[in-house]
Amino acid sequence: MRLRPKDIKRAESTKYLGLVAPSGNPEQDLKMYTDVILRKGWHLTERTESNPFSDWTTTFHRRIALEHGFWDQPVWAQQATLGHELVHIEQRIDIGRHRFNVRYMARPRWRWILETQAYRESVRNLKARGATSSQVDAYIEYVIKTLRKRYVLGILGDKQMKKETRRILLLGAA
Ligand SMILES: [Zn+2]
Repeated sequence: MRLRPKDIKRAESTKYLGLVAPSGNPEQDLKMYTDVILRKGWHLTERTESNPFSDWTTTFHRRIALEHGFWDQPVWAQQATLGHELVHIEQRIDIGRHRFNVRYMARPRWRWILETQAYRESVRNLKARGATSSQVDAYIEYVIKTLRKRYVLGILGDKQMKKETRRILLLGAA
């Protein structure tokens, strides 16, 4: 599979960037993201350990199923995850729940677009907390590896694609 120019263009859209401006204060941002999500009529639930998807956080129907042990994580990690999931909520509202699921599950191109848009918010969040550019670089490396392996996006084995994804992830992270 190769990405087409229109896929790149979609991923580049900054529409979902900064829905909630991270303050850099983790407690404050956690409260802000939680409030926005609840106000939109979504629910947060933590998966039980026995759930086969216990180590995944996903958006499903009007529910964010948090990975098991989510509330034991440091506050900065919790708020960063909720900022990322808020992007997925907005994408689902725009695309429609059913179409979002089909695109996400069955079309690797779309999975790449939707996750690149959501992880870009994570990068921005990291910057807001005062991360250095080498910390941001290390995080982007981690994201690319995660997308490639965990999200089964083999295209990220390609050097050019990696470079392109890295460029898009940094859009807006000023
Ligand atoms: Zn995601």
